[in-house]
Amino acid sequence: MNPWTRRLSIALAVSGLACAAYAGEPAIKSNNGATAKTAASAAAPASAVAATPPAPAAVAKIPPCANPDGLGVARVVEIDTTGGPGFGFEHYKAYDFLQDKEVVLTFDDGPWPGNTPGVLAALANHCTKATFFSIGKHALYHPEILKQVAAAGHTVGSHTFSHVDLAKLQPDQAKEEIEKGLSAVKLALGTAPASFFRFPFLRGPQDMEAYLGSRNIAIFSTDIDSFDFKRGKGAAGVIKTVMDGLKKKGKGIVLMHDFQKHTAEALPQLLAELKAGGFKIVHVKSKVQATSIASYDAEIEKNTRGLAGVGQPASTIVKTIAGEP
Ligand SMILES: [Zn+2]
Repeated sequence: MNPWTRRLSIALAVSGLACAAYAGEPAIKSNNGATAKTAASAAAPASAVAATPPAPAAVAKIPPCANPDGLGVARVVEIDTTGGPGFGFEHYKAYDFLQDKEVVLTFDDGPWPGNTPGVLAALANHCTKATFFSIGKHALYHPEILKQVAAAGHTVGSHTFSHVDLAKLQPDQAKEEIEKGLSAVKLALGTAPASFFRFPFLRGPQDMEAYLGSRNIAIFSTDIDSFDFKRGKGAAGVIKTVMDGLKKKGKGIVLMHDFQKHTAEALPQLLAELKAGGFKIVHVKSKVQATSIASYDAEIEKNTRGLAGVGQPASTIVKTIAGEP
């Protein structure tokens, strides 16, 4: 599908028109709202009893949150990553799929002990979902934590193997960083991640954007950068930056880092403020999982042979059996 056709397809899907008839499948499907029709409802036979309203779109119901003050999830959207669409207005302005007050929470650079579980606990308390862009090396260091992220129902994407600035690499090296990152996250998870990618430092060279397009991997930039990596920001600073950004823009993809301690500390209050401010969480999912390349899978497996922790918690490999009283 050419980029213009894709753009139109997504616009139709989001505005709730009969995109299924236009392009076969909507690029973004809403999983609980009335914004997108399914192929089945669009194709309902005209011979049905005239007085009967069309069947509602077959969307899943999101169970209510046990926490009455929980943010929950307002909408789940499925993204067709064919051709590598970009999201987040800081770099990519083609697909404006969020409605007013809708927020997508994203966390980069994990998994990391302490901080990632802290983020997971805060999200769980609000019955809400986020997307995690994991660094390949960190995924291999802490696969048990990344598995917890996936087990909690969050989306996992990739963020290169070693978090280098791809704009400073030769194209072959940059591709290798992307592919090894994907293969490492897949090995750590035990299954392929979402076909979602974020560039380290949000620096995406044009040739790598095109490469991700050829791999059908969607690119995520951001609308609101928390700058939570800045020294001295603190939990209060993270909350203020995110809330100020959302109040100004009204909606958006928020970039944070589960790698950062004060982000984990900020999250309980940030989620409470989002709820109080009337913001709604949208959970993004990939229509199909990423397809890794076998040669990179083999290279990652070879290089991690004997590395404790890949595939199972380190505590099951190495146990303390005696020590000082
Ligand atoms: Zn990063």
